[in-house]
Amino acid sequence: MNRSAGKLIIVSGPSGSGKSTVVQKLLERCSLPLLLSVSATTRPPRAEEQNGVHYHFLSDKDFENRRQNGEFLECKEVFGRGYWYGTLRSTVSAGLNAGKWVILEIDVQGAMAVLEQEPDAITVFVHPGSMEELERRLRSRATETEDVIRRRLDVAAEEMSYRHLYRHELINIDVDPTVESLCGLLHQYQ
Ligand code: 5GP
Repeated sequence: MNRSAGKLIIVSGPSGSGKSTVVQKLLERCSLPLLLSVSATTRPPRAEEQNGVHYHFLSDKDFENRRQNGEFLECKEVFGRGYWYGTLRSTVSAGLNAGKWVILEIDVQGAMAVLEQEPDAITVFVHPGSMEELERRLRSRATETEDVIRRRLDVAAEEMSYRHLYRHELINIDVDPTVESLCGLLHQYQ
């Protein structure tokens, strides 16, 4: 990967950790030249999601063709639901070449796959402190069936076991201080 002046940042954390909100606010508030890499997925868009903004929504066939062409820095099936997610090499290298600090918001296995290729990536794991708190947050959303919650909790427990492999661990209780800490720690890499 040609990186010139840019940097690669990987943010992971279990579902319910609030990592998407943290990343969104970081983009608004942090003065570094950050760019969020838009992943590709075969999952159908949710009501509020726009193609090319939240994800590049691809058909199974298109995703598979791109996978075989080596267009992904990493890709995998997440949640065992049959949906694929992947980081496009072209997005990351265009950002790095433009001197951006490219953020990948990806799951732990994707993160490990990227780290093998990009060991200097700045890795950050966001979580709510404990599995109890995570369960409380997932349940309070009340949008998922018990089955889905159970499955997400199993995945979350598995993901939490990877947290020591990240350079930074951020406990997200209140989003504003978490965003401030993250912005501060990223500035140390300037
Ligand atoms: P959601 O379907 O809720 O948007 O995302 C589900 C999970 O997929 C999240 O844990 C998210 O971090 C992960 N994810 C999103 N994009 C990618 C990607 O490009 N690669 C990998 N490995 N995981 C991703």
